[in-house]
Amino acid sequence: MAKAKTGLAPASGGNVSTRPAPPAPRPAIRVQSESLHDGEGSPGTSGQPVAKPTHLPSSVFKELEIVRDPSNLFHQTIEQVLISAQLVGLKHHQQIILAQPKNEIMVHFPVLMDDGHHKLFKGYRVQHNNALGPYKGGLRYHPEVSLDDVKALAVLMTMKCSLVRVPFGGGKGGVKCNPRELSRDELMRVTRRFCSAISNQIGPNYDIPAPDVGTNAQVMAWFADTYAQMTPELNRNDTLAVITGKPVEMGGSLGREKATGQGLVDILKEMLPELGIDITKMTYSLIGFGNVGGWTGRLLSKCGAKLVAVLDHTGAINNDQGIDTAALSVHVDKTSGVAGFRGAEAIDEIQFYSRPVDVFIPAALEQMITPKQAKLINAKVVAEGANAPTTPEGDAVLLQRGIEILPAILCNAGGVTVSYFEWVQNKSSVYWTADVVDERLNNHMVMAARRTKLARHKYECDMRTAAYCAAIEQIGKVYDLRGVFP
Ligand code: GLU
Repeated sequence: MAKAKTGLAPASGGNVSTRPAPPAPRPAIRVQSESLHDGEGSPGTSGQPVAKPTHLPSSVFKELEIVRDPSNLFHQTIEQVLISAQLVGLKHHQQIILAQPKNEIMVHFPVLMDDGHHKLFKGYRVQHNNALGPYKGGLRYHPEVSLDDVKALAVLMTMKCSLVRVPFGGGKGGVKCNPRELSRDELMRVTRRFCSAISNQIGPNYDIPAPDVGTNAQVMAWFADTYAQMTPELNRNDTLAVITGKPVEMGGSLGREKATGQGLVDILKEMLPELGIDITKMTYSLIGFGNVGGWTGRLLSKCGAKLVAVLDHTGAINNDQGIDTAALSVHVDKTSGVAGFRGAEAIDEIQFYSRPVDVFIPAALEQMITPKQAKLINAKVVAEGANAPTTPEGDAVLLQRGIEILPAILCNAGGVTVSYFEWVQNKSSVYWTADVVDERLNNHMVMAARRTKLARHKYECDMRTAAYCAAIEQIGKVYDLRGVFP
């Protein structure tokens, strides 16, 4: 995680422009309160919202004895939560609750490797908040997984679930490993040992993991099977709901695999017209062509949008005529990266970021857009498909340049939304058609977008702060109703 290290060698050729992007005019998002039918009141009458609130929540940091490190993703995330919490007037004790996870679980477990030796692995499960329902969030397998990053990602899950109104709290987990260097058998044994190490801390009604970077439906299948072995007291069918993102043949939901990309496309369809962008004619570039980037690309191609540049860990490519997203998927499946794709030419990282596009979509890891990249980005809109792809300093540069940011907790909430549908289907043993999944996903995404626009208008703030405000308002209401035990 941490900073992106793409290690790209500058490539020669490429007819993209490298001149600095001109400041884009600030687009105006209108608020359509009449179309927001979930009883959240009407917007205020104040003027055009622009600025990001600047007051820092230092008193909460002090009270919790957190020594603020601006490069720490968890501190950054909590800071954003607290800025928004203060805007919505969240009670002080509720701010303190949200500023720390409820539980931080760290486990070490040995795994038999193919060459006969045993290797010790480190795993995490962080349960941030369960005011709205069971903890929910993915499992990441990555060499740079760290406790603070998992804590940050767990907070983001709390925010996301609340914003799209699925009845879950936030959690996240991971194993520090490089799945690309593990054999299939080793990956299975890591997964089974990790599941057994945390099996008494999770459960279908308590904490429900899912896929994230470095894990997939097969990993979820091994995890579900191991959990069933570890809990003989539970009805076998009930154990399916302990994890989502499973293969469709094993209790998974239709539409789950593409869900994050589909949700992002739903958000773009809802937001772009008001920003003066026609999705059927727009150009865009992507960071990452994994699950989120790949699905977003293929789904946007169906809408008529033109993908002109992609960057991933293997390099960057450009094609002014448009990249064939289906052919690129086949290439990435075979070679595990975009480099060497014949339907485009290699470009360097600076050319990639400065390539003029309507929409720029980071869909890989965290913290890739620092001020350096933010100064280069030549787009009207940045739509965050990845979790926390923009640093606070990068965010400030984009805002100052008038680039509209559609924030991650809104744009990538489609995955957890369809995870919720999968959980509901497992619990009821009634399985939905792909059309039903798509329609219900769209409904959650559109409502979340409208909530964000409404909050933006109400609190006169940037879109990111507004999305957090809309999420936190809901959590505050629930805490007010529940109170704090005893
Ligand atoms: N890992 C995904 C995310 O960050 C999905 C989580 C889930 O489905 O629970 O949103």
